[in-house]
Amino acid sequence: MADNILNGLFNSKKNTANRMLVVKEARCPQNHACPSVRVCPAGALTQNGFDAPIVNMDKCIKCGKCVKFCPMRALIFE
Ligand code: SF4
Repeated sequence: MADNILNGLFNSKKNTANRMLVVKEARCPQNHACPSVRVCPAGALTQNGFDAPIVNMDKCIKCGKCVKFCPMRALIFE
């Protein structure tokens, strides 16, 4: 609970500059096409089958759209 609140506070666009986008595989059910892959404007997310998505930080512009789209909060900035 406190973890979710803190993530919400610190995942805003302005606070991502020094953070890395991290995939929390334990939170991802890995049984569906990841909705966040489709919304990434930079093509920074890929998915093999229904596996948890993979982030390419060389492409990521840290816009945070994927974070908002994942209902499981499996994508977070740390
Ligand atoms: S933060 Fe933006 S650019 Fe980076 S992976 Fe998520 S949607 Fe793509």
